[in-house]
Parts: sequence; C-alpha cells; structure tokens
Amino acid sequence: MDLEANLKTVQQRIEAACARAGRKPGSVTLIAVTKTQPPEIVCAAAALGLNLFGENKVQEAKAKISACPARLRWHLVGHLQTNKCRDAVGLFEMVQSVDSLHLAEELNKRADQAAKTLPILLEVNAVVEASKFGCRPDRLLADVRHINALPRLEIHGLMTVPPWTVDPEKVRPVFRQMRELKERCEQVLGAPLPHLSMGMTGDFEVAIEEGATMVRIGTALFGARLKASGA
Ligand SMILES: *Cc1c(COP(=O)(O)O)cnc(C)c1O
Repeated sequence: MDLEANLKTVQQRIEAACARAGRKPGSVTLIAVTKTQPPEIVCAAAALGLNLFGENKVQEAKAKISACPARLRWHLVGHLQTNKCRDAVGLFEMVQSVDSLHLAEELNKRADQAAKTLPILLEVNAVVEASKFGCRPDRLLADVRHINALPRLEIHGLMTVPPWTVDPEKVRPVFRQMRELKERCEQVLGAPLPHLSMGMTGDFEVAIEEGATMVRIGTALFGARLKASGA
C-alpha cells in the first residue's frame, strides 16, 4: 500500500469532480475512514497532512484515539447504540450517524452532563430496505424540529450510506434526493445546513457532483480491509 500515492490520487479525483460540477476545490472535506486500521496507519496518514478521521465503532475508536496524536479530529460515522453515547460525546468532534429522536435525546443528555455542545449529522436511509440504519426521509422531516430544539446538539446537515453498486451512476438519484431533503430540512428549520456527508470509495465522485461537502473514504486510501467491520 502506497498511502502517499493513494492520497494524491484521491485528492486529484476530488478536485476533478469539483471542477466538473463547477464547485470550488476546497468545498469538499476528505474524511479518512480508518476502521480496522491500526494507530500506526493513522499516524502515517497524519504525517501526510490528514487530520480528520472517521470510525464506525465506539469501542474500536476508543482504543485507537488514545494511541494517536491528540491534535487529530474524529467523526463517528457508524451506528451508535444509546449505551455508548457517553463515550461518543467524549471521543468525537461530530457524530454523523444520528438516526432517531431517541438517540438524539440520549446524546443531548450526555453532552449536557459533559457541559459540551455536540455537532451532529442526521443519517438518512433514502432507499427502502437499503440498510439497517438511518432514518426514513418522512420520519426525519417529522422529527428534525424536535432534534433541533435539543440545546446541546447542533445539526450541521445530513449523512447517508447508500447501497453498494458496481455502477456509481445507479446511486446518483439517491445523492440528488439527499440534496433535496437537506433543502426541505432547511425550510423546516428556517436555517441553512452546511453539510452533506455522502460518497465513499466506490461513488465519491458522483456524490461530489451532486453536492457532497464531506466524503468518507477508506479503501481508496488504505487498501482493502482485512477483517470485516460490520459496515
Ligand atoms: C467503511 C465506511 C466508509 C468508507 O468506505 P470505503 O468504501 O472503504 O471508502 C464510509 N462511511 C461509512 C459509514 C463506513 O462505515
């Protein structure tokens, strides 16, 4: 694995997708997803200038983050159980996988106990039966105002994990739907939501063309994962 070359390629592909979409090159944030990767790999990535990392499991992240430089920033991108909310509040700069009002309430409670404000994204499951996780769009529109009223949480936008397909063009409509759903949430809240976290190794260029502001990339940077990690 040549991390430096992989990173350069990913950055070039992000810039090219921005150019195609008429977007500024700096308008997309790369999140390096390091699930299953050891702290040494995170350190190597940090030495190349990456400072924002994504993990999908609280338990794994807890061990890893304590073994990595303290200046690095971490986002939770995987499913969160309510009994792990306290740890999540302590470990992550942002929780991208808030998929229910119930989970939001628990996170709000834990953030309050820690005297913190927690930036979140609302995870949407835009495709019927696509994934075990994520909130259905109609549910989201019904709950977004309640979640927004929780004093310790700040909604920064939406996140989605569409089903994997060989042809990324197949998920373009999902990404487009997400952008429309974000606009509808903005109307409900009467405030702009800056972020759309969508796009992984197989589909990030299409996601950028449809408005992604954060792409979450593992395999294209670090190679294929050796062990399964549940997402
Ligand atoms: C693993 C994972 C990613 C990265 O996936 P790749 O296909 O390896 O780029 C992105 N988002 C989430 C939620 C993940 O679990």
